[in-house]
Amino acid sequence: MTATPEVDARDSSTIRNPATGAVAGQVRWTDPADVTRIAAGLRAAQTDWEARGAKGRAKVLARYAVWLGEHRAEIEDLLIKETGKSAVDAAQEVPLILMITSYYVRTMEKALAPDSRPAALPFLSIKKITVHYRPRPVVGIIAPWNYPVANALMDAIGALAAGCAVLLKPSERTPLTAELLLRGWQDSGAPEVLALAQGAREVSEAVIDNSDFIQFTGSSATGAKVMERAARRLTPVSLELGGKDPMIVLEDADVELAAHAAVWGAMFNAGQTCVSVERVYVLESVYDQFVDAVVRDVKNLKMGAGEGNDFGALIDDGQVSVTERHVEDAIAKGAKALTGGERRNGPGSFYEPTVLVDVDHSMACMTEETFGPTLPIMKVKSVEEAVRLANDSPYGLSAAVFSKDVDRAKAVALQLDCGGVNVNDVISNLMCTTAPMGGWKTSGIGARFGGPEGLRKYCRVETVVAPRTNVGAGGNYYNNSPKALKRMNTMMTKLALIRPRRMAK
Ligand code: NAD
Repeated sequence: MTATPEVDARDSSTIRNPATGAVAGQVRWTDPADVTRIAAGLRAAQTDWEARGAKGRAKVLARYAVWLGEHRAEIEDLLIKETGKSAVDAAQEVPLILMITSYYVRTMEKALAPDSRPAALPFLSIKKITVHYRPRPVVGIIAPWNYPVANALMDAIGALAAGCAVLLKPSERTPLTAELLLRGWQDSGAPEVLALAQGAREVSEAVIDNSDFIQFTGSSATGAKVMERAARRLTPVSLELGGKDPMIVLEDADVELAAHAAVWGAMFNAGQTCVSVERVYVLESVYDQFVDAVVRDVKNLKMGAGEGNDFGALIDDGQVSVTERHVEDAIAKGAKALTGGERRNGPGSFYEPTVLVDVDHSMACMTEETFGPTLPIMKVKSVEEAVRLANDSPYGLSAAVFSKDVDRAKAVALQLDCGGVNVNDVISNLMCTTAPMGGWKTSGIGARFGGPEGLRKYCRVETVVAPRTNVGAGGNYYNNSPKALKRMNTMMTKLALIRPRRMAK
C-alpha cells in the first residue's frame, strides 16, 4: 500500500507507484518561502507575454501542443508509473488537452479581441466604447492527483492563452508528471511564464498569497479553505470541486447502452473522476434488466495498472479506506454487493469493482463522494422520484439521463440542478470544449474551461471610453451653464423614458 508522501520543504521525496510500490521518481519540494520569488519572476515575464498579443501566444501554444503530441508515449508511461492507472485510462489525458489547445489556438484571437459596445441611448453615441480583456498577471493553479495532465493543463492552457503567467501547484501525490509537462514547455521554446511550486498545503497557501487569480480543482472541503485564504487579499477564485453525479435510466431507455455507459462511467480511472457516475436511479420496469447487464459487464473487467487492463489502482490507501467505508456502511444498512465488496489482497491499493443494490439515501455510498470503483443502483417508481433523489445532494457537477426519446430526456435534464447533463452518454460534456464546464452548489464556482468564457475568466475587463469627435464633450463640467445642464438632463430623461413608456402600456 502507498500513502501520501511526507512533504518537507527543502527536502526531496521518492514517489512510488500505487499499483506496485516501485519507485516512480524523485521530487524536490519547493520551500514555501521561495514562492514569492518564483511568482515575481513570472510577473516580470508576463508583461512581454501579454504584449505578444493573442496571435503571438497562439503560435507558442501550438508549438507546445506539437511537443505534447510527440511525447505522448513518454507522458503516458510516467502517468502509469506515478498513478497506477491502466494504459487505456492514461491514454485519455493528452488527447483531451490537445483538443482544448487546438480549439483555443484557433479561436483565442477572436475571443480576446476588444468588444465595441453601442451607447445605451443614441445621442450618447458621441462616445466610442471599447471593452478590453486584459490578463490577470499571475494565475495560481492548484491541482488534484486524479488526472495529472488534464487537470493541470485544462486550466493552464486557457490562462496562458489569455496572456497570464501560470504558477502551477500539482498534487503532492503526482508531482512528477508536472515536471515533465514543464520540461516540454521549456523544450518547445516557450518563454518563462510557466513555473511549478511543488508541495502540499503550505506551498498551496503561498501560491494563493502570491497570485492574482486562483483556479483550484480538488475536494469541496479544500475549496472552501482556498476561498477563505484568497479572500484575505480579495483574490478572485474559480473552484472545480467534488461531485456525486447521478444517472437516470428511464423506462424507454436503451438498457444495454445505459449499462455499458454506467459501468464505464463508474469504473473509468478506478472511479477517481470528478464527473464519474456515482449513483444510478432506474425506473422499476427496466431495473432487473439493467442490473443484470451491469453485473455481466463488471464481471468482465480487468483490474490492474498498465497495458491489458480496464482500470487501475486507487491513488493510495486513504482512497481505498473511503471506498471500503462506503461499501461496509451500505451493507450494514441492508444493501447487497452483487460484485466485489472488498479491497484486493496483495500489493497495491486496489479495490474490487463493486455493484451495490438495495441502496437508499441513508447510506454514504448515495450521498458522499466515494471516488472509488463502486456503482450503487436504486430502483425508483417514477421520473419525479428519480429527479427528486438526483437533486437531493449538496453537489451539482453533472448528470446523465437515458431515454430513447431524446426530447423527453432533455426535459428531464433541465430539471436537474447541476452544471452539465449528458443525454444517452456519460462524461462527454467534458469533451465539448466550445461550451463552459463547471459545477453548481458545492461542486464549484465559475466555469472551468470551454468557449470564450474559458479565456475571459482569466482577464480583467478594462472599458475605454473615447470621443468619436471632440464635439460635445464635458457636458457635466462646472464651467457649463446650469441652464445647459438642466436642458441636457431634461432631454436625457425624455429620451430614456421613450421605450419604458411604450412597454409599460
Ligand atoms: P484535495 O482537495 O485534497 O487537494 C487538491 C489540491 O489542494 C492539492 O494540490 C493539495 O495539495 C491542495 N491542498 C490541500 N490542502 C490545502 C489547503 N488547506 N489549502 C490550499 N490547498 C490545499 O483533492 P484531491 O484529493 O487531490 O483530489 C480529489 C478531489 O478533487 C475530489 O473531490 C474530486 O471530485 C475533485 N476533482 C474535481 C474536478 C472537477 O473538475 N470538478 C476534477 C478533478 C478532481
